Amino acid sequence: MSRFFTSRYAGLTPYTPGEQPNRMEYVKLNTNESPFPPSKAAEEYTAKFTRALNLYPDPECRELAAAVAKMCGVEAKNILLTNGSDEILNFAFMAFCDEDHPAAFADLTYGFYPVFAQLNRIPYEEIPLDENFCIRVEDYLGIGKTIFIANPNAPTGICLERSKIEQILQANPNNVVVVDEAYVDFGGESCIPLIGRYSNLLVTQTFSKSRSMAGARLGFGIACEELIRDLNTIKYSTNPYNINSLTMAAALGTLSDPDYTQRNCRTVMENRAYTAGELQKMGFEVLPSSTNFVFAKHAKISGAELYQRLKENGVLIRHFTKERIAEYNRITIGTREQMDTLLETIRRLYGGIL
Ligand code: PMP
Repeated sequence: MSRFFTSRYAGLTPYTPGEQPNRMEYVKLNTNESPFPPSKAAEEYTAKFTRALNLYPDPECRELAAAVAKMCGVEAKNILLTNGSDEILNFAFMAFCDEDHPAAFADLTYGFYPVFAQLNRIPYEEIPLDENFCIRVEDYLGIGKTIFIANPNAPTGICLERSKIEQILQANPNNVVVVDEAYVDFGGESCIPLIGRYSNLLVTQTFSKSRSMAGARLGFGIACEELIRDLNTIKYSTNPYNINSLTMAAALGTLSDPDYTQRNCRTVMENRAYTAGELQKMGFEVLPSSTNFVFAKHAKISGAELYQRLKENGVLIRHFTKERIAEYNRITIGTREQMDTLLETIRRLYGGIL
């Protein structure tokens, strides 16, 4: 820390992203990216745009907001595009939380929520998931806090029914409920259809997972017009040009090719069922997943050791040190070939004890 770093941030523990090795010597199953390249249309649209890079992008992202709204069955005024969904989550902490509206989220959920709370000096409560890693709806009723729910949740992969989220929305009419649907396209139940009925609901989604665009950084929020206006106040007070022209072009290309996205999601779900089945045959406990990853542990292999030995053998998965989940690993679902490499490596390393 330099002697110039303000005391406001000196105590901040930043979010630790998954490893992004420069050389692709690993089978990379650690950051929930899509194993498939972006749609060909994304490449084509982007190539056409490079000549206009001398100009600033459209700060309102009108064409893209209209296309995303169409996909979601809402109007463009209900959409805000951001630099990854991380950005809209931060905007939501800034816009809808303070001393009088503390944040609340699960004890085991997306690790960026406590960082955003600390960054913005917002008090927060971590509400323990039950013994099956599920949200206990009763814990969220009438709590007078701004609620953040990753649904499906990460790193567990478990989803919560929309009717339960609706109960939480109804029981907290004076607080915003943010539903982070980063993984919803792999089998979750979206809350977008509730937007018209609940003025306290903000749903966030991303192009990073199902749409193969993690490198382009694009996320979006869907909410009633008033919430979107508040979030725009934050956006225009931080970075009006938060979406660059190339990302916008790539996203328009991706949205012109929905069959490709759907096909990839289906393949990931098939590979997930296959991987979970094979891991279970080896004695792993695998949580039911509605995402593009599985969360698994083995009674005879420590979580940290499995992570380390797979890494030494060219397979990168994600291990978290939090006590409650230290025996688990989060494994991104890749291509069938990648999953076979993972499974064969585990068999080779642990064949004797499985
Ligand atoms: N929410 C959850 C639950 C996530 O796991 C991630 C990915 N790290 C994000 C949001 C943010 O993704 P992005 O900024 O790439 O849209």
